Amino acid sequence: MSRYVYDFSEGNKDLADLLGGKGANLAEMTRMGLPVPPGFTITTTACREYLATGAVPQHLFTEVEEHLRLVQDRMGKRLGDPRDPLLLSVRSGGRYSMPGMMETILDIGLTDASVLGLAAKSGDPRFAWDSYRRLIQMFGKTVFGVPGEAFAAELAAACARAGAATDAELGVGQLQDLVGAYQKIFYAHAGRDFPQAPHEQLYLAITAVFKSWNAERAVLYRRRERIPQDLGTAVNVMAMVFGNLGARSGTGVAFTRDPATGRRGAYGDYLPSAQGEDVVAGIRNTVGLSELERIDPHSYRQLLAIMERLEQRYRDLCDIEFTVEDGTLWMLQTRVGKRTPAAAFVIAAQLVDEGTITLGEALQRVTGEQLAQLMFPSFDDAAAPAPLTTGVPASPGAAVGAVVFDSAAAAAATGPVILVRRETNPDDLPGMVAAEGILTSRGGKTSHAAVVARGMGKTCVCGAEDVEIGPDAFTVGGRTVHAGEVISVDGTTGRVYAGEVPVRPSAVVRYFEGEATALGDPLLSAVQRLMVHADHVARLAVHANADTAADAARARRFGATGVGLCRTEHMFLGERRELVERLILADDDTEREQALAALLPLQRADFEELFAAMDGLPVTVRLIDPPLHEFLPPLEELAARVARAEALGEDPGHDATLLAAVRRMHEANPMLGLRGVRLGLVVPGLFAMQVRAVAQAAAARVAAGGDPRPEIMVPLVGTVQELETVRAEAEAVLSGIEGAPPIRIGTMIEVPRAALTAAQIATAADFFSFGTNDLTQMTWGFSRDDVEGAFFSRYLGLGIFAVSPFETIDVSGVGELVRLAVERGRKTRPDLTVGVCGEHGGDPASVRFFHATGLDYVSCSPFRVPIARLEAGRAAI
Ligand code: PEP
Ligand code: MG
Repeated sequence: MSRYVYDFSEGNKDLADLLGGKGANLAEMTRMGLPVPPGFTITTTACREYLATGAVPQHLFTEVEEHLRLVQDRMGKRLGDPRDPLLLSVRSGGRYSMPGMMETILDIGLTDASVLGLAAKSGDPRFAWDSYRRLIQMFGKTVFGVPGEAFAAELAAACARAGAATDAELGVGQLQDLVGAYQKIFYAHAGRDFPQAPHEQLYLAITAVFKSWNAERAVLYRRRERIPQDLGTAVNVMAMVFGNLGARSGTGVAFTRDPATGRRGAYGDYLPSAQGEDVVAGIRNTVGLSELERIDPHSYRQLLAIMERLEQRYRDLCDIEFTVEDGTLWMLQTRVGKRTPAAAFVIAAQLVDEGTITLGEALQRVTGEQLAQLMFPSFDDAAAPAPLTTGVPASPGAAVGAVVFDSAAAAAATGPVILVRRETNPDDLPGMVAAEGILTSRGGKTSHAAVVARGMGKTCVCGAEDVEIGPDAFTVGGRTVHAGEVISVDGTTGRVYAGEVPVRPSAVVRYFEGEATALGDPLLSAVQRLMVHADHVARLAVHANADTAADAARARRFGATGVGLCRTEHMFLGERRELVERLILADDDTEREQALAALLPLQRADFEELFAAMDGLPVTVRLIDPPLHEFLPPLEELAARVARAEALGEDPGHDATLLAAVRRMHEANPMLGLRGVRLGLVVPGLFAMQVRAVAQAAAARVAAGGDPRPEIMVPLVGTVQELETVRAEAEAVLSGIEGAPPIRIGTMIEVPRAALTAAQIATAADFFSFGTNDLTQMTWGFSRDDVEGAFFSRYLGLGIFAVSPFETIDVSGVGELVRLAVERGRKTRPDLTVGVCGEHGGDPASVRFFHATGLDYVSCSPFRVPIARLEAGRAAI
């Protein structure tokens, strides 16, 4: 018989698949002998079986009862005993952390009878009744779907009647009345009395946690975080300890280092005289951990010692939840903590310095996505007005947008918005997803808003206490800001500004640009060290897609070791468009040759600049690719101009000739039409002119003492015959030019047929470069220019894709073609150089795939070069 329940003493941190992250870590802490309240974990398998069948697995509750007996024995109390009740917490905890997305129920075991026992035993009736009303509220909401507002309204009314500012000021009698009122609310919504059998409470709570795996917000969160939807959650059942048992009690969240900056030293929030979820919910403002040192130095010292041990055990930053019950410290949770991208780099480097991890491990602790976030701009402080207020800098970045006050408005907005809330709860997730940034007036760095925003890389300022938030406006310092007005939120400093503050580039970008030195800056020196190591271990080279000398120079500063794609069509825009028009409209060879002769020196000059910028490094020049009609005015526009002229009795002149040409060349599917190599074979002399320009530019650079390394690349090849024809023409041109270095000729692989026939194509190619944009388009058969608006969001919503295949390579389809083409191409020509120059070349997950597939380089936009370098290094470890 399979087993569904593990005592905390039976598991360890490596069993997260089975016990969930929280359960595995509770087990680890128990094994370490740390003060964890007794408890057990119900496995993710049990949840999966429940979700699949809709029924709790047979024997589950029998096993629960067996383990409960152990907990009861250890605590010396029985669940719900009317004289001295054991109370339980029931918490979700999947394989991956999903903060606040699933359910937790505390104080299971309290009933009309046992509340009296708890009051008598604890000597604190207020605490007992407060716990009971919390249970009815949480249980009602979670298990029976009673609307939270119903309880909140009753609580507010009770406070108003008592003249109390918060629930903490309510007396015993008032809390007893509140319990009565809550039970009525429960009955009204649930259609039954609040369960008075403690074991029934426990079973219902466990089942509710199972179900919460599929709560809408949890599904949305997983989709965003790319967590598989079929893992299920474990359920942790633990003896309750109480942080709301008077002044020597409290609850807190702590990090072994600052999760925002990575600075060394314990860091956290403490809430005296409060119960577990109050800190995370951000309902009340917390005090710093140092306050605990003042209130309870013994628990504080014990906590620090435990945090030290946890860091050593996990070899990383840990975050923990703890409770102090009447001077006794209890550990409720730990895990390797989430952190900002800056902290990730700083901590990884620190751990190397401290001798805890190697540089290789440090590289695994940071990601290309994190580096990308560090390359975001921030506000230009010099240009900023006096701030409206300063809150807690919870998630760094610079966000500018119109104020909205709820999720619906955020989702409906067309422009960038800032979501402004007193505090956020998991129901606000869609609004947080839609917003540029988040501002709250309550809660610390560990509040829901802060934790979720950091996870998403969204700018967030929280706990801006002097902001008074109404339904359509907020006021701060006597100033009112209405919905729709623009504010600027600085998640790095916590400052909030009225209006739009100009943004400036990130320090990391300035460092890559050579404008800032890493010396003395913890973040920049961490980035520097990890980038150096990444370059050292990487097998994939990183080139850039750059069409101009300026782009190429920037890419070089960012660490590119070549240009993997120069799209020459971009050189035919602006004033040169007219020359292309002449080429297209040419009636005979002479006219065409004249047009080409006019284009030649312009191309040559472009290439000379580009080769100079990349002196000593390879520059892959791709011959012209898009359909020629892209260089002509749109058909409708021309037709209208001609019709207007004719209606006015005027001569449409040149427009009429153009219109005829556009009509002649019109294609129903231009992306599948006359473009790439087909164009080169149809328009005589076009490719030859480009090849000549490349060779002449290279010869000129050599004459000037330079070291140009050009390569010529043919786009959209589908059969070797195409490439052979172009190659023969190109070689003929090259042989006639003196003084140029040897120039390799290769092809893009972007048509599925090219991938399949790679063995033949390699006979005529010195190198392959996968154009994965077109290869994705043609393999899936959907248009790269149209899909995003047309149906991708629906596909993503349905989970058909976890991510757009234009963003991350579709490993099993398009990736298989890449793998196969590499293998077949290299069989023909073992020295074949193979790279990729589609957008995927700068995508972290795709870079890892290209490494594994044995490519020689990836080529991506200049800005993504550092990200690809980092990932190339990570892939090699
Ligand atoms: C590609 O198709 O991946 C590619 C790099 O070419 P382009 O994006 O210019 O079509
Ligand atoms: Mg292409």
